[in-house]
Amino acid sequence: MASTIQVLPQSVTPTMDSVYSDQLGFFSLDSNVPGLSKVILDKLNMKDYGEYRAALEGKKNGTGFSSLKEMFQKMEDTFKFCTACKKLPAHLSPPKSLKRCIKCLNVYYCSKDCQKSDWPIHKTFCKNLRLIAMDRLVEWLVSTGDLPFQTEEWTLCASEVRSWDDWLSMQGDLSPRLDAILLGKNMSDLWTNAGRQRPESRDLRESLWRVCSEFFSKPLTLGLGIKIFKLDPYSHPLTIHLVGAANSETLGARTTDMDELSHMFPGHQGLEVVMVGPEVVEGPILRPPLRAFGPRGRVYISGYKGLYHQFWEEVVEKEAAAKPDLVVGFHPGFHATQSLGEGWLPTLLLLRDFNIPAMFTLFNESEFELSLQIMLELEMHIRTSGPNPFRSLKPEQVQSCPNKPAVYCNAHYICFQGLLEREEEEEEQENTEEELASVG
Ligand SMILES: [Zn+2]
Ligand SMILES: [Zn+2]
Repeated sequence: MASTIQVLPQSVTPTMDSVYSDQLGFFSLDSNVPGLSKVILDKLNMKDYGEYRAALEGKKNGTGFSSLKEMFQKMEDTFKFCTACKKLPAHLSPPKSLKRCIKCLNVYYCSKDCQKSDWPIHKTFCKNLRLIAMDRLVEWLVSTGDLPFQTEEWTLCASEVRSWDDWLSMQGDLSPRLDAILLGKNMSDLWTNAGRQRPESRDLRESLWRVCSEFFSKPLTLGLGIKIFKLDPYSHPLTIHLVGAANSETLGARTTDMDELSHMFPGHQGLEVVMVGPEVVEGPILRPPLRAFGPRGRVYISGYKGLYHQFWEEVVEKEAAAKPDLVVGFHPGFHATQSLGEGWLPTLLLLRDFNIPAMFTLFNESEFELSLQIMLELEMHIRTSGPNPFRSLKPEQVQSCPNKPAVYCNAHYICFQGLLEREEEEEEQENTEEELASVG
C-alpha cells in the first residue's frame, strides 16, 4: 500500500528527531529521477536538508539570492532533467544544457531523439503544463502581497454557497482588481526576471484567479467542514486545529489568511484556527493558542511547531488551549509514508478515540482511495467523503513526472468521527455460532 521510499543520500539521513514528513515529501521527488533532491540542494547552494529547511524558515545565514533573476533561475533549474530518459544535466557527457519544449516552457530534453520519442505522451499534457509553468511564477505575487485580491461581504448565507460559481457571483466584477495587479510593478518585475516572455493579459488574468482559488480554497474548505458537521459558529466560538500544517501553508502566512471565514459566517462568536505541525514556520502566526475565547466576529490564527499528539499532551490536556470543535488536515499524505506509526498513527487514533469531528483533504483520486482504505482499516467512522466543491483550480504537476495528470490542492475530502460500530458483524457471528451449536 505504502510506496517504497528511496534510500536517502547519506548527508541528509534523518536523525531520530528529524522532521520526517517533510523529508519524505522532499525525497519522494527522487523516486523517478535519481538524485533530483540532491540537484535541488546543489542548485540552491545548500549542502544538506537542514540548510534547506533553515532557508525555508527564514533563518538563513548568508545563502540567499542576490537578485530576483537568480531566484527565478534557481527555481527553474530544479525542473531541469530530461523528461524522456530522466538524465540530469550533470549526467550528460560532454555536459551541455537541456533544451526546453517551446510550447509549454516547462519540460526539458537532452536531445532531439528524446524529445521526439516523448512527444506522443507529452502532447496530451503540454497545454496544461504551460498553465502550470505560468501559475508557478504568478504565485510569487502572493509573497509580495499583490495576491490574494480583496474579497466582498457575502450576500448569500453559507448554506447557499455550494460552488466557486456561487462564491464568484458575490464578488462582483473582478476585472478592476485583477487589472490593478496586471499593471503593478511586481507583475512587471516578475516577467523582466522570469526568463520567459510575459504572457497575454487574458492568460495572466486567468492565472491570477487560479492562484487565488488555491488561497481561498483553504478557508472555504474549513467552512465546508463546519457545515458538514453542523457546527454553529453563532452559538459559541469555534476552535479548529489544522493538523500537519506544511510549510506551504505557514511559510509567509499572515494572520489575515483565514478572514474569508468571517465573510462566510458574519457576526460569528469567534473562530480560532491553530496550525499544528512539525513544519510550521516562524512568522506572525506562530503565537500561542488562545486560552479564553477569541474576539467575536474575527478569525484568530495561532501556531504550534510539533506533532499533533505532542500538542495535545503538552498544551490541550494542560488546558493551555481549547479543545477542538473540528480538526482539519490538508493533504496529510499518510498513505505515502512507511512511518505512519511514528507520525500520523498516534494522531489518527487520538482523533478517533476522542470522537473529534475531523476532515482530511487529498490531492487526487488515488490518494483519496488509499487514504480511505487506511482509515477503514483503523476502524474510523467515515461520515461522508467526495470531491471538494472548493478545490483549488490551480493545476500542480508531479514534479518528477510532468507527463502525468495534474493534481489539485484540496481536490477530495474525507470526513470522519469516532469509531466504526461493529455490532452487526458481532451479531452475525453469534448467530453463526448458535447455528453451529444447534447443528452439533
Ligand atoms: Zn534524454
Ligand atoms: Zn511541452
